[in-house]
Amino acid sequence: MARARDTDACPGALQVHQGADGALARIRLPGGIISAAQLAALADAATRLGSGTLELTGRGNVQIRGITDAAAVAEAVATAGLLPSANHERVRNIVASPLSGRVGGNADVRPLVAELDAAIQAEPALATLPGRFLFGLDDGRGDVSGLGADVAAQVVDDHAVLLLAGHRTGVRLAAGEMVETLVAVAVRFVQTRGSAWRISELADAAELWPGAELGDGFVPAIRPPVGWIEQDDGRVALGAAVPLGVLSARAAEYLAAVEAPLVITPWRSVLVCDLDDTVADTALRVLAPLGLVFDENSPWLTVSACIGAPGCAHSLADVRADAAQSLPTGSGVRRHFVGCERACGAPPAGEVLIATPEGYRRRRT
Ligand code: SF4
Repeated sequence: MARARDTDACPGALQVHQGADGALARIRLPGGIISAAQLAALADAATRLGSGTLELTGRGNVQIRGITDAAAVAEAVATAGLLPSANHERVRNIVASPLSGRVGGNADVRPLVAELDAAIQAEPALATLPGRFLFGLDDGRGDVSGLGADVAAQVVDDHAVLLLAGHRTGVRLAAGEMVETLVAVAVRFVQTRGSAWRISELADAAELWPGAELGDGFVPAIRPPVGWIEQDDGRVALGAAVPLGVLSARAAEYLAAVEAPLVITPWRSVLVCDLDDTVADTALRVLAPLGLVFDENSPWLTVSACIGAPGCAHSLADVRADAAQSLPTGSGVRRHFVGCERACGAPPAGEVLIATPEGYRRRRT
């Protein structure tokens, strides 16, 4: 596969990307898990030092853009406890079933997220893992297995199965083997990757693990869980979709003010968890007018966009404005608008519309 670049330019909280509108920092949130105080800290940093918005990514991470003082943002991120390892900050890419431990699923993978995050940071060889490499922990509902993680485990009853590049492998893992296996695969990839950034770019991904044979992939989930969600323990989670993934600092402050555990999902939404009915009802009334979407039939759930102009110098159009104007799609087809062929943030399913001087064209598959 042709390489666009030879160095890993994936942004982090310390290695920022220089955009047309200032620096961009990406803060990794393993499993999308973030506390109310941490979200408040990011909102404050975005207000004081950035564009005043937080961008939610397709991996459940958060970006601050338009940064005027990158060192001050990094300090704010570290103070909030979101920068535990300077050497591994860009490789803590873990997607996990967002509702795990609260609604359904075969297991609660939240402890495994913390365990995997710690194991990644403890492995010196993984400091050089490409920033695009993605780990996945699926609690059995199949929601994040379709995201094409480089290496993942999906829980099945009392064991798990190993996935490589989003494909079944036929390898069965005991519950206690999941984290060590995912880390071992990643280390093996670092040792053998050559110029590949992702496992899917290898000639034979199955060689990364003894006995693995690449099988079927998974149908990608394309919609976030939104609205009033009854948890198994009787409490409530509110699922709030964030149009185009752009969360205003003000809305983030109100989310944080609920003082509940939060999860940023890979579908650019936020789960506000563990609420009693009264608090959930009040939060819903306060958050909806701020632009957060709780309606599972909203057309905002079918459209996304890259940064586009003016934030990205590569873009031929203000793709966010164009995406917003395209509502509703009517067809129900998920559409992702991008400003150039790089197609940043393109989801694993649906149409990708690329800006050209003559208007948008569908990406060829
Ligand atoms: S797809 Fe192109 S225009 Fe959009 S953010 Fe990526 S590089 Fe910029």
